[in-house]
Amino acid sequence: MDVTPILDPLNDAQRDAVASPAGNMLVLAGAGSGKTRVLVHRVAWLIQAEGVSPHAILAVTFTNKAAREMRARIEEMLGYGVRGSWVGTFHGLAHRLLKYHWAEAGLPQNFQILDSDDQLRVIKRVCRSLDLDESRWPPRQAQWFINGQKDEGLRSAHIQEQKHDLFQQTMLRIYRSYEEACDRAGSVDFAELLLRAHELWLKQPDLLAHYQQRFSHILVDEFQDTNTIQYAWLRVLAGKDIPVVAVGDDDQSIYGWRGAKIENIQQFPRDFPDTRMVRLEQNYRSTGTILRAANSLIAKNFGRLGKELWTAGDEGEKISVFAGFNEQDEASYISGEVEQWHDRGLERQSMAVLYRSNAQSRVLEEAFLQRGIPYRIYGGQRFYERLEVRNVLAYLRLLLNRGDDAALERVINTPPRGIGARTIETVREQARLKQLSLWQAMGAVAEEALLPARACKSLAAFTDLIEDLAPATTELDLAELVDHVIGITGLVEYHGKEKGERGQARVENLEELVSAARSFRGEAEDSSALQNFLDNAALDAGEGQAAEQEDSVQMMTLHSAKGLEFPVVFLSGVEENLFPHRMSLEEEGRLEEERRLCYVGITRAMEKLYISYAETRRLHGSDSYNSPSRFIREIDPELLEEIRSGHGFSRPTSYAASAPDAPPGLALGQRVLHQVFGEGVVLNFEGAGANGRVQVNFDLEGSKWLVLQYANLQTL
Ligand code: ATP
Ligand code: MG
Repeated sequence: MDVTPILDPLNDAQRDAVASPAGNMLVLAGAGSGKTRVLVHRVAWLIQAEGVSPHAILAVTFTNKAAREMRARIEEMLGYGVRGSWVGTFHGLAHRLLKYHWAEAGLPQNFQILDSDDQLRVIKRVCRSLDLDESRWPPRQAQWFINGQKDEGLRSAHIQEQKHDLFQQTMLRIYRSYEEACDRAGSVDFAELLLRAHELWLKQPDLLAHYQQRFSHILVDEFQDTNTIQYAWLRVLAGKDIPVVAVGDDDQSIYGWRGAKIENIQQFPRDFPDTRMVRLEQNYRSTGTILRAANSLIAKNFGRLGKELWTAGDEGEKISVFAGFNEQDEASYISGEVEQWHDRGLERQSMAVLYRSNAQSRVLEEAFLQRGIPYRIYGGQRFYERLEVRNVLAYLRLLLNRGDDAALERVINTPPRGIGARTIETVREQARLKQLSLWQAMGAVAEEALLPARACKSLAAFTDLIEDLAPATTELDLAELVDHVIGITGLVEYHGKEKGERGQARVENLEELVSAARSFRGEAEDSSALQNFLDNAALDAGEGQAAEQEDSVQMMTLHSAKGLEFPVVFLSGVEENLFPHRMSLEEEGRLEEERRLCYVGITRAMEKLYISYAETRRLHGSDSYNSPSRFIREIDPELLEEIRSGHGFSRPTSYAASAPDAPPGLALGQRVLHQVFGEGVVLNFEGAGANGRVQVNFDLEGSKWLVLQYANLQTL
């Protein structure tokens, strides 16, 4: 029995934890200190050295990807497969449990999982059956309420009705009817998976005893982000006898907004007797510079459990802080750097671009597309594939072509306007029967009064809406048109009703689409700007994710970067109001969570970290002038090297100060007016005298090089 491959690649503290005798253990340690490694090696150790069956081990990780990786690494160390072992996410394991024990859980054998969109649809139907006015009681709010209660382990029957609180009473009514609807249909939402799995323990002592017999070890990664019900589920399962090893980092708790309880870390030693505390302090991931930056930032948070990280590695390069004039300048810098790294031999997949919210990806995506750099959006959708964006595009397509059945199907009742499934079916039937488009079929249905008056009225309201919008396609310019369509159709209110970050994100994406339209420059000259825009969007969406094998730059939100590492990391959009997110400034404790998120971002980098921001940003359809994020100021300035726009590749300001020979009266970053192209920002200079050229990024026309002599720019 050779345990060398298991113990050799560990330091003393890690080895100690990996090979420690069975017992409760909490590994509390900073980023990149090898927590996940300890967990993986511990599993291998238990199997190899302690002779524990792979089937007796339950290991919980945060994502399915992490679970797959964990299994692969264990198999690699052991030299044989451990299929069928219980390694997965909380949701995945709960699902497996319910699949095995559907009857005990009170579910039909073929119970269906509702994803978030499905869940919302059910809630809407429930609200309608309760005759609730959607504008007063947004279904998304109810969804948020229901999931929040379930995450706390509460069913409607557990909740006391508040006498004078109409909101609570109504939410509770919806919750009750929703539960009934789900029971009738045999469907289970995400939160329900966890709740039911927990109830299985409580209601079926025999079953619990069976699993307590079966599992001899429980291990949990990313413990700082467990919520109440997950913690309870673990605790009941562990009972008195199953030792639990939990690893986590209080400084990386970033899901408080979704119910995660950082307090679970403090609670652990109280609930799990004789917990052995392990600290790991050596970081193996990042350069000294990156690590010191992370340490200096997170030191600004209060109430930390407190730990410092050190590294035996090199100091490494300074952190490049890039100030772009605007978001396109920033994106162009990032894509330029990516190209340079790649030319120097670094694989693209070794580079990650991280951002605070999904809407920020669009400009970056465009920059990558422009340079032909393959990219992959990890744990998220490409901009033009997002639900809310596709809804707007469907309206636009319908405006251009009433015969576009797919577009019509998509928006006929989105936002809801009382056109039910039966009405749509009748329309479809007419279309089939008479070989008409759905649009024409709607006319036929109305003419022949094939449906009750109410349904006909709803259909007429929809056709009126589209016809009323139609003139705008010629009267307005592209951006105005998109904005107008979003406004008139009610998509903002509709998507905005989704509570919390999700709703916010959807509205941001809608606004971002207006931005996209504003800066859109079509190439095909023989069709309208709108047609051009739609074609482009369709092509972009149609490309789908870059194939797994293709070497692509990794793009993701900071949240989904948790647990991962990359040689080169770009933190983009590091501006006040964006990051920290403006919503976080209003709620107590959220600023600290944002700071932890920044800490997570910084500590993803191994060799080189870039931080960038834009001085003006067109996001969500409007221009904003945000100052650089406070998080940049909170990093020890010695570790930073400032890069200004327009000075070429990676040239620090100190060198560049004398470089640009700006013609009199013009400066980089200055706003100027051109008679034909309108307003813009000076990006760069080249040459002098009669050869002097200036690059201007025009608000409407994009970036252009102009001969200075003839440009006739007016400064603003
Ligand atoms: P995070 O908090 O970000 O989840 P972590 O604490 O889980 O980080 P790991 O991902 O396990 O850290 O390890 C970070 C990096 O350091 C990995 O590349 C890992 O392989 C490496 N590493 C960990 N321990 C050692 C060691 N003793 N010797 C060499 N490399 C190590
Ligand atoms: Mg980890």
